[in-house]
Amino acid sequence: MLFLFNSNWIQAQTFSAKNVALYDNFKEPFTQEILIEVKGLPKKTTEDFGLETVEITLQHNRTSDLKIQLQAPDGTTSWVTNRNGGLNGKNYLQTKFSQFGEDGLINTAKNPFTGNYIPDGQFSFFNNSQNPNGSWKLLVEDLKPEEKGFLEEVKITFGNKPATFKRRKICSFETPENCSNQGKTAALLPDLVILPFFTQTQIQEFAKDDRHYPSQLKISVAIANIGAGPLEVFPDPLIMKDVKMDSSKAGNRIPLFQKIYSLKGNLFTSENRKSGTIYYEKLPGHEHYHVDDWIEMRLVKLEKGKRITVSKGAKVSYCLFTNGMLYENDKASIINNKQYGSDLQNYGLGEYPGCELMKQGIAVGGYDYYGLMYEGQFLTLPKDLKNGKYILEIEIDPDHNYYESNRKNNLFSMPLEITKQ
Ligand SMILES: [Zn+2]
Repeated sequence: MLFLFNSNWIQAQTFSAKNVALYDNFKEPFTQEILIEVKGLPKKTTEDFGLETVEITLQHNRTSDLKIQLQAPDGTTSWVTNRNGGLNGKNYLQTKFSQFGEDGLINTAKNPFTGNYIPDGQFSFFNNSQNPNGSWKLLVEDLKPEEKGFLEEVKITFGNKPATFKRRKICSFETPENCSNQGKTAALLPDLVILPFFTQTQIQEFAKDDRHYPSQLKISVAIANIGAGPLEVFPDPLIMKDVKMDSSKAGNRIPLFQKIYSLKGNLFTSENRKSGTIYYEKLPGHEHYHVDDWIEMRLVKLEKGKRITVSKGAKVSYCLFTNGMLYENDKASIINNKQYGSDLQNYGLGEYPGCELMKQGIAVGGYDYYGLMYEGQFLTLPKDLKNGKYILEIEIDPDHNYYESNRKNNLFSMPLEITKQ
């Protein structure tokens, strides 16, 4: 006997596309769109009905060439899997992606990724009350030449366990009664920290004579916000009105403001403070807006107690968005032996799904992950570098452009042995 507790209950429904040859990289940015037509579903996604899973089976001899996104009928786009698989990993075989994937994060998994994984993006952005009926698209980009792929099947499933932010009493700008200022009138500032797990487990050194990446140290970095408020930035509206300033022209710098929220009673207020700059980044796999000088990576040597910087800092720009959330059962959410998760004050506050110009940021309890195979995620080792023991340092916001509740935890460091130079 079947009991129906929820009047909105409908059976899970799956839609698919099959047998599509994937284009290789032809040195031009190109996004292949694979259509998945969805029909016959309720006209609105809710907390109890929406997108649950995406499943992919595809052949590719080097899956880290691939950036795969899903796009909803309303244009909302989220990463499914981005450049995962390391140097030579092959194929996705019955790889399921869901917010509650019991096999953990896709970016810590190994090919052929058979199982149920948490995607690189946030599927909850799709379940935003939109009508799920219409054309969904799997967006596939191959970011490196030489290997091409074949998509056997992509399936998307809708049902009653959708990816959702709207858990019981979650704090949002629409529900200030669920948020807290802990009795203080101070602004709700973000607090940015590096999640050690990703950098410690995803780092790779390449020899001087490597064909593709000579003397590169490729590094994954994930930056979490453990403060009481979101990090949010937006471009200077006066500059945006200037017709001579074409913001999509690569290289043009646009001044940013940081929006800082306060909570008084049940009312959010905000003030804007001048901060850094943003620009259009045209590197393959990016082609969106990046905040300048977001992190600096340095290689340091300790000699007789003296700290010597052996590799000048490489400043790297980032698109600021929430592509992962801290969870209590996730080993990637441990910082300085402390487990972080949904008990953070104002957890989930702020929605930053993409890399647009008009608004970027990192939600409370969210993080922004950049994998080691992404363009730009490396430090060039100096020509005469000797093998041996070093310290890798990564500093968030090295120029101190952004306001945070605690700047003292912005520097991450780890011991590192260089062996291939
Ligand atoms: Zn980017």
